[in-house]
Amino acid sequence: MPFASLGLSPALAAAAAAQGFQSPTPIQAEAIPPILRGADLLGQAQTGSGKTAAFALPLLQRVQETRLPGQRNVQALVLVPTRELAAQVGGVLRGLAAALPSPPRIAVVFGGVSINPQMMALRGGADVVVATPGRLLDLVEHNALRLSGAGLLVLDEADRLLGLGFADELQRVLALLPRQRQNLLFSATFPDEVQQLAQRLLRDPVRAEIAATPTHAPDIQERAIQVDPERRTQLLRHLVQTHGWSRVLVFVATQYAAEHVAEKLYKAGIFASPFHGGLSQGARKQVLQEFKDERWQVVVTTDLAARGIDIAQLPAVVNYDLPRSAVDYVHRIGRTGRAGEGGVAVSFISADTQTHWQLIEKRQGRKIPHGQMPGFEPTKTAPAAAVPGIGGVKGRRPSKKDKLRAAGLLPPLGQSSE
Ligand code: AMP
Repeated sequence: MPFASLGLSPALAAAAAAQGFQSPTPIQAEAIPPILRGADLLGQAQTGSGKTAAFALPLLQRVQETRLPGQRNVQALVLVPTRELAAQVGGVLRGLAAALPSPPRIAVVFGGVSINPQMMALRGGADVVVATPGRLLDLVEHNALRLSGAGLLVLDEADRLLGLGFADELQRVLALLPRQRQNLLFSATFPDEVQQLAQRLLRDPVRAEIAATPTHAPDIQERAIQVDPERRTQLLRHLVQTHGWSRVLVFVATQYAAEHVAEKLYKAGIFASPFHGGLSQGARKQVLQEFKDERWQVVVTTDLAARGIDIAQLPAVVNYDLPRSAVDYVHRIGRTGRAGEGGVAVSFISADTQTHWQLIEKRQGRKIPHGQMPGFEPTKTAPAAAVPGIGGVKGRRPSKKDKLRAAGLLPPLGQSSE
């Protein structure tokens, strides 16, 4: 199916072709026609499915249609949760726009860097703004931007933008936008509580949902390896060295762990670099670029890199520390197996994290194969977590009482007077 059959103008279809997009991906085929009609949309698809172009192409077409000659007013606003995603989405929009006869001006603004160059860049006006919410508000306060004409709003990674962390900023941004506008929400995951918030924002939305069916799901081989926590770095080294993965993204729980694990790998002769929110914006950008350029074989990161970042041909993701939630798990493993390429997602589990792992599996409604690596067999077995009826079902961490019960120091549930 050609792009033009979705209602895209010949110029935009040519812009897609210039990016090497021959035919639309499923989310593009579903989302582009309603967006071009002006409908609100809730787009749910796995990461790597072509979501960015699914809104970028029709957004550019609508901006081209409504733009008045000689004027530069912000007509479309794309909000994203992280600086990296802002840069990436801005890059996709600019890449597509460059092929158009009179390209719209696209501004990309995010925090963590000096505001002055961004204010200067906005002096000539912009037709499309890609922004993280905090810096956008700063720029509005500095009168560098007006959003009263932005009749098209996109929330990319919408579930995060609608979550608690962004609640205040998002409300303030929404108050600056015209009431009559088109709203597009995209994410790989929409937990129930976020769905409710989303419904308040959307008017009569079209749902474009690409289920993770075998034909559309990225080809990701998942598995869990049982290992004692203190041997995880050695196991990681072993996996990196024996599998010959050209690039591995390793997720850890804290900035400290990112530094620590990367340093240990580096000392062991593996080119590894940390990546986390404690680094300066310049350092973050450099690490990502050098990772893309294969200067680093391993990047050890916090959940900062879990969303949206598209690193072509990332063959492997390792959960050194398990993610906090099943939703975060989906985002993390979505960093591999993108755009039809295969990938491996390995999770390290131990006796202490067994229950949490079972919860992640349960929330996804499936079991992920697990086993042990010869030479790294765990010495500790699962404690209370593995006792049927305790902890595992609800997925909560075993309480002190659970542990005492498991050790036989308290009567089993139902037999005590508590
Ligand atoms: P995204 O889900 O937006 O991060 O996109 C994932 C990858 O798919 C990016 O590298 C895009 O360049 C690529 N892509 C997007 N649309 C298409 C298409 N129609 N055909 C081929 N590749 C695409």
